[in-house]
Amino acid sequence: MECVFCRIAAGELPSDILYQDDEVMAFRDINPLAPTHVLIIPKRHINSLADLSDDETQIIGHMAEVANRLARQEGVAEKGYRLVVGSGEDGGQVVPHLHMHLLGGRRLSDRLC
Ligand code: AMP
Ligand code: ZN
Repeated sequence: MECVFCRIAAGELPSDILYQDDEVMAFRDINPLAPTHVLIIPKRHINSLADLSDDETQIIGHMAEVANRLARQEGVAEKGYRLVVGSGEDGGQVVPHLHMHLLGGRRLSDRLC
């Protein structure tokens, strides 16, 4: 298994896990860009948003639900936060396993990109 996030999901690589259930896992980004920087991933390998089939889109809702809950838990929900999902090279996706960034704890750039 070469995918780094599959290895984290399988418990083969250490990570700072905040939440997991049968479908998704959330852990702290190893290179945080904000005081709160959490990654939410499906446990099952899906390359990217673009690779989600129509009957798989519920996973994004589930990831957002987990992100919202973690935002409250991290104490950033009230002041605000940002959820980011990049897809593919131009979308800035480096790790080819679908993931959602939860960023908060500081005023983020007004520029989206
Ligand atoms: P992206 O650029 O959207 O593909 O984001 C990939 C993110 O994964 C980056 O923010 C990395 O810092 C993060 N990352 C890569 N490897 C690990 C790891 N082993 N544990 C936690 N986060 C990681
Ligand atoms: Zn994977």
